[in-house]
Amino acid sequence: MANLLRPATWGLFSWRGYCSRGTQGRLSAGFVEALKAIVGSPHVSTAAVVREQHGHDESMHMCQPPDAVVWPQNVEQVSQLAALCYGQGVPIIPFGTGSGLEGGVCAVQGGVCVNLIRMDRILELNPEDFSVVVEPGVTRKALNTHLRDCGLWFPVDPGADASLCGMAATGASGTNSVRYGTMRDNVLNLEVVLPGGRQLHTAGRGRRFWKSAAGYNLTGLFVGSEGTLGLITAATLRLHPVPEATVAATCAFPTVQAAVDSTVHILQAAVPVARIEFLDEVMMDACNRHSKLNCYVAPTLFLEFHGSEQALAEQVQRTEEVIRHNGGSHFSWAKEAEERSRLWAARHSAWYASLALRPGCKGYSTDVCVPISRLSEILVQTKEDLEAWRLTGSASLPRAPGAGRGGAGAAALSFGPPGTVVGHVGDGNFHCILLVDPEDPEELLRAQAFAEQLGRRALALHGTCTGEHGIGLGKRQLLLEEVGVVGMETMRQLKATLDPRGLMNPGKVL
Ligand SMILES: Cc1cc2nc3c(=O)[nH]c(=O)nc-3n(C[C@H](O)[C@H](O)[C@H](O)COP(=O)(O)OP(=O)(O)OC[C@H]3O[C@@H](n4cnc5c(N)ncnc54)[C@H](O)[C@@H]3O)c2cc1C
Repeated sequence: MANLLRPATWGLFSWRGYCSRGTQGRLSAGFVEALKAIVGSPHVSTAAVVREQHGHDESMHMCQPPDAVVWPQNVEQVSQLAALCYGQGVPIIPFGTGSGLEGGVCAVQGGVCVNLIRMDRILELNPEDFSVVVEPGVTRKALNTHLRDCGLWFPVDPGADASLCGMAATGASGTNSVRYGTMRDNVLNLEVVLPGGRQLHTAGRGRRFWKSAAGYNLTGLFVGSEGTLGLITAATLRLHPVPEATVAATCAFPTVQAAVDSTVHILQAAVPVARIEFLDEVMMDACNRHSKLNCYVAPTLFLEFHGSEQALAEQVQRTEEVIRHNGGSHFSWAKEAEERSRLWAARHSAWYASLALRPGCKGYSTDVCVPISRLSEILVQTKEDLEAWRLTGSASLPRAPGAGRGGAGAAALSFGPPGTVVGHVGDGNFHCILLVDPEDPEELLRAQAFAEQLGRRALALHGTCTGEHGIGLGKRQLLLEEVGVVGMETMRQLKATLDPRGLMNPGKVL
């Protein structure tokens, strides 16, 4: 229990560049030789720079390097590695592309980082069953490039080009999830190497059905397990037909409330919108600058519709009616593929557009998700809180790190750094991207306290502290508050059954 009661953002704020473990840790020369015997010498590294690269993700969590990094090339090697590490009491940390935002790959107890990116084959494509089997090194963009000519695609699209098995491990989602679902809805089967080395097929070897009532849902257990129960070495994924026609749009709103009300009304009107994304005015300004867009600077919705030409016309008409009713304006339609790609590339670059507003600062992303009926309430309140906590301001005033402590530019900084808000509002999920000066401890603590308050507000509104990024290191206290003591105990018992020695990605989730 003592572990559970650590501050919710334990381990934050001493990120990459600074490592807690300067020298190679506790692995004996004989153990490293045993790793080399399994995967081959070129696929093992104990170099400090390599360990440091693998000790952090894209979040602000402190870089904590593993003692060694290995790159297996097949599932048998992964099994042997797991058996070796488990037998010797060495922690195992799975690594995809390191794009996570919750410190999931930090080696808090040292150990062996298993980088799965060199297992990058598409093992099986079954177009007639709308399914594909991929190894853990295949990324979402690589899969869609492979599928380009077969009329199918995989819609789950986090902003980063993450590995598909890493996405399964975090329960990722993206801009298309309002129509096509998250990883939880699109994973049909997983091949998992359990901590001791045994191989598990969560839905049975080779199976790729869409529904089942056969026993416990083991696939569901591993989706979102964040590397704490086993190493995912293959995923069977559900594919979708490429829509006949697509049209995208942006439109501006007088207030945040009007943008969110429109979202709710569009969903209530049963418009099968494929994407509906919210950007506040600070985010919109940042995207204009970073991605050379020319959108009106105001609370904005990015939308996309998929279907036949006839269906699209109807969806667009109903959506326009709803939006105009809520005071929306400045419509801009994009039908050509190039123009749509430009728009969505800008949306996917929102994280980097935010970072560019305050060079030298670090991004800290919140990730709450609430029932759609509570979305406008929490978003409007959050915008006010950002101002009250001095964590947002006008993006048109570029701010240097350190200026907030009274140096040049202090007057401009009275509004705070330019924190942005962006969200998958069709799912009730949004992110505040706080731009934090790493040299300013007061600002760091303020961001941390704001994020905890926001998490608790989402819980009070029957929501969750994380819609898609996961618990990782920083949200364990909020998880306890979310699922309660019995929920937490049940999770601990499941963990203890599968990983009795507590060596699979220790220190995460629980
Ligand atoms: C710019 C940007 C935008 C983003 N946008 C989104 C978004 O819209 N939606 C969203 O959901 N996320 C988003 N993310 C977060 C991130 O991309 C996702 O969490 C992604 O799923 C992580 O995949 P990865 O391969 O990088 O995993 P990693 O970061 O390498 O690992 C993440 C966790 O999964 C575990 N893991 C990785 N691979 C495996 C495996 N094969 N088996 C078992 N465990 C494994 C790791 O141990 C770790 O705990 C964004 C990140 C960035 C930087």
